[in-house]
This record gives sequence, structure tokens and C-alpha cells, in this order.
Amino acid sequence: MPTTYDTIIIGAGIAGASLGAQLVSQGRVMILEMEKQPGYHSTGRSAAFFAPAYGNKVVRDITTASEPFFRRPPDNFTDVALLHPREALFVARQDQCESMSSLLTKTSHLRALDATRLTEKVPILDTNVLVSGAVDKTGGDLDVDAILQGFLRQFRSGGGELCLDSKVVQLKRTNDMWIVRTKNAEYKSATVVNAAGAWADSIAESAGLAGLGIKPLRRTVVLVDAPEDTDISDWPLTIDIDEQFYFKPDAGQLLISPADESPERPCDAQPDELDIAIAIERFQQVTVLQVQKINHSWAGLRSFAPDRSFVTGFDPRSTGFFWLAGQGGYGVQSSPALADIAAYLLTGSHQLMSREAIEDLVPSIAPDRLIN
Ligand SMILES: Cc1cc2nc3c(=O)[nH]c(=O)nc-3n(C[C@H](O)[C@H](O)[C@H](O)COP(=O)(O)OP(=O)(O)OC[C@H]3O[C@@H](n4cnc5c(N)ncnc54)[C@H](O)[C@@H]3O)c2cc1C
Repeated sequence: MPTTYDTIIIGAGIAGASLGAQLVSQGRVMILEMEKQPGYHSTGRSAAFFAPAYGNKVVRDITTASEPFFRRPPDNFTDVALLHPREALFVARQDQCESMSSLLTKTSHLRALDATRLTEKVPILDTNVLVSGAVDKTGGDLDVDAILQGFLRQFRSGGGELCLDSKVVQLKRTNDMWIVRTKNAEYKSATVVNAAGAWADSIAESAGLAGLGIKPLRRTVVLVDAPEDTDISDWPLTIDIDEQFYFKPDAGQLLISPADESPERPCDAQPDELDIAIAIERFQQVTVLQVQKINHSWAGLRSFAPDRSFVTGFDPRSTGFFWLAGQGGYGVQSSPALADIAAYLLTGSHQLMSREAIEDLVPSIAPDRLIN
């Protein structure tokens, strides 16, 4: 007889783990993960930044609501700091002045900087190319591994079961239950949560539902040496005002991304040589540093719904099929509050946000908006 759960979550990335941690006190919960380790895909490949000014208003609201969790996590969640302060510095060339004015108008807490002040923040910036900047002091580096492990520890200590190397291959609804089939086992569950990241639409299809148009876009990251004899640890994350590149310190090296968004099928994403070359070219166009060699590179998938808002809620086309997908480039920084919203919709319980704040956000992230 298949084991029966109240909820089966598909995917042990940050989405599945954060929700599992919240649901475990409400019933019997299983997380099924196809890889041999949790966080192997997008979650383990992020740039690990917390940027409350990033994304559309819905994303910004949910990210902001997550901040208190990162600053004061629950007891026994972790013994390290989850959020380390780091400024974000938006930079613009002469031809990007309009973008800079528009950002400063819509984000009142940013402080404008002229070209002469840019090199006080990041000495390698080339002020022959860059003419203005804006500093956001609200950002920081996230310890993604500590966050993921903290959620999984909460989940397991509450009695949750995590089954690795368990790819979900079929989902079938009987009268009152989902039958969830993996390559080796079969489980029953009243509710299935689709937290499968880049595979979210494929999971819906295996349940007989059309996908919602959640598209994985590949993003590349390279690590290069920092300038010699320079302490870069306090440099801000420097980001092009039109998000053509960003770079930031990463454990003594410089992490650079060309901020690429290449359409990709769900897969174990690998960096493309051309994207690596573009990363270096864009970095060198705005700095005086010549990159000698690339120490490491990787790529990951950021999966977006067409309107770039999250997809969280029950699917109205089927009983007990719940979406927690479309986290795009914001899935780590928004995870505590997005899990809180999901837990509220699934069980009525919530810990981080007020019921009013949750209800205000629900229509903007509901799957219904993407179904014709
Ligand atoms: C280069 C890069 C930089 C980023 N930078 C940031 C950043 O600075 N800040 C930020 O907040 N976010 C950032 N992101 C985005 C963030 O990483 C994602 O939004 C987030 O990790 C998504 O989490 P997830 O759990 O939805 O997806 P994933 O981590 O991909 O987890 C989904 C899981 O589902 C599993 N799965 C899929 N299909 C099945 C199946 N059939 N059966 C069982 N399991 C299955 C997969 O194996 C996977 O482990 C970045 C992403 C990238 C790629």
C-alpha cells in the first residue's frame, strides 16, 4: 500500500524547503527531490544577494516582508548570520541617464552619486565611461546554504520526510487523493505542491494540466581574481542601471555576471563560452581592471511567469494541485514570506506576515491570472 501524506512537495530547492518547514507542524509532509542533494539546481547557483529594490512591486513587497526573518531567524534555525550588509551601487553611462532618473524617482531611499564619488565606492570603476550612480543601503549578501539547511533542519525536526534521488514521473488524481509515482515508489497525498523550479510546467503536464508559461532563462556567473593588494570585501554589488551586468566580492574573488537571460529547456544548466566572454567584455568596458583568467564559471536557470510575478496558489482546474513556482531571480530573498503566503493558502496558518498583507498580495500571484 502506498504511504499516505497530507502534502507532498515536489522539489527540494529553497521553495520546497521553506514551505516544508512551515507546513510540517500542520500534518504529514514529504518532499520528493529528483537529485541526490537538495538545492542542486537554481538554489545552489544563485548570486546570493538580498535586494529589496529589485523586481516588480509584488516581488519587492514579498522580499521586504522576508527581511525580518533573515535578520532574526527562529531559534535553532542557524548559528551563523543569514544576511550580511552590502550596499548595491547602480551605475550609468551618459546614454543611460534617463534610466537613472527613473530609478531615483520611483525608489526614494536611493542616494544619487556623481562620477567623482563612484571610485570612492569601487576604485576600479572607469569614470570616463560611467557618469552617475545611486546607492542602495538596504541590500546584503545571503548565506544561501545556511538558509536552505536551516529550513531543512526545521522540516526534519518537525517530522518531515525528505526523499532524495526520487524523480516524480507521474501524478494521477483519484477520487480524493493524488497518486504520486517516482521511479521506485508510489505515494498518496491529498495535496501536491509543485515547487519544481524550471520543471514547474512539466510537473503540471504530468498531472494532465497545461503549463502556465513559466519559462527558464539561463544566467551565467564567472569568478575572477580581485585586483592585487586590494581589500574588496566591503565593495558594494555594482549593477548596471539597465541590468546589463553586475559584479560583487565573493570570498576574496570578484563574481561577475553578464545578467544574461537566454531561453533554455529545464536542465542541468551549463555556462556558454559566448556568455562568459560577454561577462568579461562588459566588466572591462566599465572598469580599469584587465581580467587575466577565469577561475570558475557556472550557470543556472531563473524561471519566470510571463508577468514576472510569483505563481503561488491552488490551480482552479484540479483539486489539491498547488503552485509554488516562477521565483525568477528573487527566489532566495523572498523565500520566507512567499512560504508564509503559501502556508496560509494551504492551511490557514501564517507566521511572518499579517493576514491583511497576505490577502492583498494573493491575487497578483494566483495561478488563475495565467489561465485563459
Ligand atoms: C545565476 C543566478 C543568480 C541568482 N541570484 C539570486 C540572488 O542574488 N538572490 C535571489 O534571491 N535569487 C537569485 N537567483 C534566483 C534563485 O536562485 C531562484 O529563484 C531560486 O533558487 C528558485 O528556487 P526553487 O526552489 O524554485 O528552484 P530550484 O532550486 O531549482 O529547486 C527546484 C527543485 O525541483 C527539483 N525537481 C524538478 N523536477 C522534479 C521531479 N520531477 N521530481 C522531483 N524533483 C524535481 C529539482 O531537482 C530542483 O532541486 C539566482 C539564480 C541564478 C541562476
